[in-house]
Amino acid sequence: MKHISLGAEISADPATRLIVSVLEQAVAEQASYIHLEPREDELRVRMRIEGQLKSVLTVPRDLRLAVISRLKEMASMDLAEFKKPQNGRVTVTKGEIATDLRIATLPCIFGEKMVVQLSKKESGLLDRRAIGLYGEDLEKYACLMRSQSGLILVAGPAGAGKTTTLYTMITDRCNERIDLVTLEDPVEYDVPGCNQVQIDESSGLTYVNGLSSILRQDPDIIALGEIRDAQAARMAMQAALAGRLVLSTIFAENALSVIGRLLDMGLESYLISGSLKGVVSQRLVRRICPQCKESYRPTPDDLAAFDLPPNDQVRFYRGSGCAACKGTGYRGRIGVFEILVADPTLQEGIRKRVGRRELQDILARNGNFVPLAKSVRRMVLNGTTTMEEALRAFSPSETCE
Ligand SMILES: [Zn+2]
Repeated sequence: MKHISLGAEISADPATRLIVSVLEQAVAEQASYIHLEPREDELRVRMRIEGQLKSVLTVPRDLRLAVISRLKEMASMDLAEFKKPQNGRVTVTKGEIATDLRIATLPCIFGEKMVVQLSKKESGLLDRRAIGLYGEDLEKYACLMRSQSGLILVAGPAGAGKTTTLYTMITDRCNERIDLVTLEDPVEYDVPGCNQVQIDESSGLTYVNGLSSILRQDPDIIALGEIRDAQAARMAMQAALAGRLVLSTIFAENALSVIGRLLDMGLESYLISGSLKGVVSQRLVRRICPQCKESYRPTPDDLAAFDLPPNDQVRFYRGSGCAACKGTGYRGRIGVFEILVADPTLQEGIRKRVGRRELQDILARNGNFVPLAKSVRRMVLNGTTTMEEALRAFSPSETCE
């Protein structure tokens, strides 16, 4: 992949200088995406920071085409093609920090819209506590991570932080005594010590082909970027039954929906019950800024939104806004988790294809399962996040089934 050093471009043309300053701001503010949107006579630039889009600047008419062309050139795209969507990649470095950019274009009525996804190339960012695994959640996670074989899935809607958790698992299990191979689309972080394979559909390296090749390579652990279809899911489960540990992510609302999703894909219940070791289901919420955190008394309606009875003593929290959080009241994000560890009674339930309600009863009887709604309520009550964030993370638009 092409590497560009940002410092070396300072003396360049106005379009390049503008791109460099936008990229520097995006890296400094830890934006995950930059959106460049053509309008009738300008180009709007927005960044996604901590999950929210924020306008940063407007590129004037005379520069907008140059900006888009220069970015296409950086990402090795076809400059003459502007009627079809294109994808490209480039790594930019600024001092010690390297950032991977995945750039995608979409032809719109006023020109090409461009989205740049940024991912920092560094190790050490994937700490279990940093993603929000504490206490009982951490114990259950550690218990799953001791598995020698079976399938462990990370579930959630888009933007729930599934990939970060998968990388945390990979980092936790990667060591000299085992062979860990990944199959990813795209490879978002380099993990030293494991073998990472990039999916490339155009050259025939699909999840299914890649998986069958990996299985001939004597792996101990296989990490798949995502389970998207039945064929890949079946192969992953068969590998798990044959003694491999398989880690992957799946698009599903919560831990129990994963079982329904796999059954809907046409997978046999004995295969699911035999291979599934556990599911880590999650969402991301913004954390209240510790510098300006304040408590307040919630209304009865606020309490009811979290299934709590009216109570004068309960307090919720919010950030009043300060310099440290640029007036937003939030700093950073944290995961909300629901961890299901499959035990014999649950496996029996899955094998017999009992309904969702009955699976819920089994989990309730086992007593060790804390659903997402309860986890997020705990975070509202202990001041980790706000009521608004908790409700947003679980709003209908974020669910996926
Ligand atoms: Zn603050």
